[in-house]
Amino acid sequence: MNGSEASLFRLNASRLMAERQQTEKTLREHQRLLRGSLLERPKFCGKPGCKCTKGQAHPPGLYLSRLVKGTVRQVFIRAADHGRARKEAISYKEYRQALRRWRAIEKELNKIWEALEAAQEEEYPFG
Ligand SMILES: [Zn+2]
Repeated sequence: MNGSEASLFRLNASRLMAERQQTEKTLREHQRLLRGSLLERPKFCGKPGCKCTKGQAHPPGLYLSRLVKGTVRQVFIRAADHGRARKEAISYKEYRQALRRWRAIEKELNKIWEALEAAQEEEYPFG
């Protein structure tokens, strides 16, 4: 058994477990998720005589862009839904980021537990 190596593994494990708990908090707290990216596009109605026909666009329209069965789809977001859509799109990104980190931590911890086992294994008869 290698004592100093083992305590380093245990230290790293506690650090990762604390970080994992933070990511789990994020995963628990984000409840409404809107998958996709929001993008703003300038609007040109094209009505004769409108300022947009002279190059002055209307306030931009908001769209949700996402992959559906391998193709990019853009859905118009109603003005009344802008606030909620922006909030939930951010939640979605934070959720995905936390999930990626959580999975990476799980992998790291798995390696540490294996290494800790090897470092703590005793010979028999005991020395
Ligand atoms: Zn116009």
